[in-house]
Amino acid sequence: MTEHHRFIREFEWRNQSKQYNILIAEFMLQRTKAEQVEPVYKKFLKQYPYIVTLSKAKLKSVEKYTATLGRHNRAPYFINAAKFVVHNWSGKFPESRDELLKIPGVGNYVAGAIMAVCYNNADYVVDSNIARFINRYNGLTLKGEIRRKKIIIEKSKKLFNVKDQRKFLFALLDFTALICKPINPLCPECPLKKKCKYS
Ligand code: SF4
Repeated sequence: MTEHHRFIREFEWRNQSKQYNILIAEFMLQRTKAEQVEPVYKKFLKQYPYIVTLSKAKLKSVEKYTATLGRHNRAPYFINAAKFVVHNWSGKFPESRDELLKIPGVGNYVAGAIMAVCYNNADYVVDSNIARFINRYNGLTLKGEIRRKKIIIEKSKKLFNVKDQRKFLFALLDFTALICKPINPLCPECPLKKKCKYS
């Protein structure tokens, strides 16, 4: 999969590995495009540079950001997650998926992303895009909520058995956004086309 590294896009949150920054980026990226998220993310972090700052934020001021992303009702997630980490762990993020999953609003994907990007220690990472790629590449033809299926998670575990999970995750996300796209994947120019079982 090393070929994928040439697809890597530059986004502000990819240049550092602070758990707080990744959490904010991932919360913002849920159902919003990365290009749209980037300017909002930068301003947000200027106003709330630390998790403690966010834990004390007023709902109305956070709503200004979530509204720009078209996700008005997401504001409480940001504040509640920050409050949880501050109150339970004095603002220090835990280093295990199970513990990260206790943070309100954090699901398997966000926990996996933090484990990969910040600790290089994710057993797997799956979002709907990664699941789609795994499904196609292995010729599985699964339908529905496939990212929760056991075989997808098993295949992701094998994929993430790499030295640099952070780089790999970003490359994989770019690959699934630009090449193995949801609709009309660019199979003729895909570097994996010879091994891929999608037809
Ligand atoms: S060949 Fe097509 S379906 Fe297979 S991984 Fe590449 S883009 Fe995806």
